[in-house]
Amino acid sequence: MILAGVMIPRLAMFAPVICCVPSRRLQVVLTFDDGPNPESTRKVLATLGSFGAHATFFVLGEKARTAPEVLREIAAAGHEIGVHGDRHDRLLSLRHPDRIAFDVERAQGAVAAATGQRPRLFRPPLGHVSPRTALVARRLGLTLVGWSVRARDGLAGTTAAVALRRVVAGLRPGAIVLLHDAAERSQREPAGVAALPDILAEARRRGLRCVSLSQALAQEPSQ
Ligand SMILES: [Zn+2]
Repeated sequence: MILAGVMIPRLAMFAPVICCVPSRRLQVVLTFDDGPNPESTRKVLATLGSFGAHATFFVLGEKARTAPEVLREIAAAGHEIGVHGDRHDRLLSLRHPDRIAFDVERAQGAVAAATGQRPRLFRPPLGHVSPRTALVARRLGLTLVGWSVRARDGLAGTTAAVALRRVVAGLRPGAIVLLHDAAERSQREPAGVAALPDILAEARRRGLRCVSLSQALAQEPSQ
């Protein structure tokens, strides 16, 4: 049961993890992990821009340090940036809290150096949230973010058609969609990049606005 709590963020056993947003407004949040990558992230930015859509990017510190200009392009286009750890340590949730904090703060520092903004949103690698992750999130004032539907587009066997089908199956008001704008460790383009135009077209057909996480959580102005 403990392991299930670590592996399945929606159980939120150890800390509040945001896995969906209010559904009263017709909105969804597209999120992109494992970037930035100069080629595939820019393709994602171009597609989002052509639909007037906004998204939230969970970036890796080590990639941010090699492509800070891509981070600035993400921010300049009005998208939101959170962190996904520094080096995509798949065992991060099992590390000593000081080591988890070091990894996250290093990623925050990389984003701050590129954009001037220190992210407060954290999606742990693989979405794993342990009691230690929860402790560090509280200590650093981080908001933990999960998802309600994922394309599994980081897997080599996932085609664009399969990624599209998975996302569309969960594309309802309040959804948080997990996609990838870069492969975890290679230059391979995740299938979600090619599927994105069709995902955005389907969202539009269903009357769903694609907004950043903070936009989705913002209070509506009082009447
Ligand atoms: Zn990842």
